[in-house]
Amino acid sequence: MTNELNNEKSSKYDYSFEYIKKKLEGSKDSFGKLVKEVIRTGICSQCGTCAAICPVLEWDPILGEPRLVGRCSGCGICYNNCPKVISDPIDLVGEFKAGYVTKTGIPEVVGAQDGGTVTSLLCYLFDEHLIDGAVTTKKDPNRPWVPVAQLITTKEEAIESAGSIYCHSQTVDALMDGVRNDIRSVAFVGTPCNIDAVAKMENSPSGMLKYFMRAHVLKIGLFCMDSFSHEALYPFFEKEGIDLREITKMDINKGKFFLFRGDDEVKSYKIKELDKFKASSCNFCTDLAAENADISVGSVGSGPMKNTTLARTGLGVEIMDDAIKKGYIIAEPFSVSNLNSVLYLARLKKVMQYNVKARRVFIVSDMDREEPFEELPELKEQVEIAKPFGARRMLRVDQKINEAKTGVNIAIKNVVGFLLEKLDVRVATVEDIFEKRPWKADIKELYPFESIQIQYPIEIKDGKPALGEIIIEIFSDTYGKIFSRKYDLGPKEK
Ligand SMILES: Cc1cc2nc3c(=O)[nH]c(=O)nc-3n(C[C@H](O)[C@H](O)[C@H](O)COP(=O)(O)OP(=O)(O)OC[C@H]3O[C@@H](n4cnc5c(N)ncnc54)[C@H](O)[C@@H]3O)c2cc1C
Repeated sequence: MTNELNNEKSSKYDYSFEYIKKKLEGSKDSFGKLVKEVIRTGICSQCGTCAAICPVLEWDPILGEPRLVGRCSGCGICYNNCPKVISDPIDLVGEFKAGYVTKTGIPEVVGAQDGGTVTSLLCYLFDEHLIDGAVTTKKDPNRPWVPVAQLITTKEEAIESAGSIYCHSQTVDALMDGVRNDIRSVAFVGTPCNIDAVAKMENSPSGMLKYFMRAHVLKIGLFCMDSFSHEALYPFFEKEGIDLREITKMDINKGKFFLFRGDDEVKSYKIKELDKFKASSCNFCTDLAAENADISVGSVGSGPMKNTTLARTGLGVEIMDDAIKKGYIIAEPFSVSNLNSVLYLARLKKVMQYNVKARRVFIVSDMDREEPFEELPELKEQVEIAKPFGARRMLRVDQKINEAKTGVNIAIKNVVGFLLEKLDVRVATVEDIFEKRPWKADIKELYPFESIQIQYPIEIKDGKPALGEIIIEIFSDTYGKIFSRKYDLGPKEK
């Protein structure tokens, strides 16, 4: 290739580069974002696209990652061309036919969670006799703010069940109750994971609703960034001195979780502070906007007391347009800036799972190590599962003697979907009816499905490990004794 040709190519390339750079200007995507979301999280596939297209990036063959060799202008070309970054709007929020900014046109619905669009849609559907019933979620009358899914058959009940409860609700159970009781046409309100369950039942080859032609389900999806485990979040609120019976509204807005009593804000928390109470499944969910729904409704991008509404299917568009025409819903045009806010949040959710890093903590005893003993009886791995605590098993405990025969490795796994805090682990050797060599470890926090490994030193007598029985007991600050079991490590050396 001649130099002349080279130069001509590079100037044409530069022209295109500048053109795209200008187009992306202001999007605030920079090399730093690529580093944070793709390189540091370990999802970079080392294709080298970023370094190949940007004049100030070079591929570092030793580190196996791109390196800045000039000033980053923040144009985001590297970020937006990376195959691991999701930047296409359809990939971020799913396909939709029409977008709206909406609020209720029904006076009784004003004061619902946001614009009251979901409740207004249900009112419209009941008034027009388009549905026999609807699945909504209300608060359990006996346990404050615990969600209970229900099948309703009137618009009055729809108005009563307005408002968001930021915890998983077993909506499919209520749906199937309705289907079994000959409800033929039903509106189903649910978070993206609830909507996915119904979509799967409708579409998968063995789906329970696929060949069941007597039921038609209109799926109304709620946008959802996070859902919480009420077993973990509510005790935290109570510890903070909040009486949940007095709380009339919970709201997530602009990265904060608010609790209200009437119009008064009782308390607010940064969502990050509450991350540990998040339902573990949300760490792996990438669907913000209920992509499999007929109509998806959220608050992001719409402004206060309004909704962002996406009609995805033909039926969804017809229902929305008729509800607007008949005054149930008031709609404003959906602008690029409304969409951009949704896209921004959707992208955060799509990349969230990359930031989940398995934590593994080792607490190693400081006991002096003896030389490994040679001839030990056969010891096989013993795996025991904790006895149920109440109706729920909270921990799985595995134990195994280490290779050097100097200690018992004890792996403790949180098998409930919420954070366990302040665990005291007590291990002792059992001799006849006496417990000897008690040993303690504190675990400050054990995240959902996290496993922590600790080591109990084996007593060495006359150069040989003294085996026999050990007892492992685990106490939780909140739930009391949640684990207790004896293990036989093998016959004692004489
Ligand atoms: C767990 C959760 C997380 C959310 N996160 C976001 C978010 O990050 N960004 C965003 O823009 N919007 C989010 N939303 C949606 C938002 O809170 C509103 O539900 C939505 O904007 C509709 O407002 P609305 O005024 O039309 O609702 P309303 O007219 O008040 O109707 C809300 C409907 O949702 C039902 N419902 C309440 N709680 C649940 C539940 N746990 N599961 C299933 N159905 C329920 C109610 O029964 C009611 O029918 C979330 C909702 C939930 C439940």
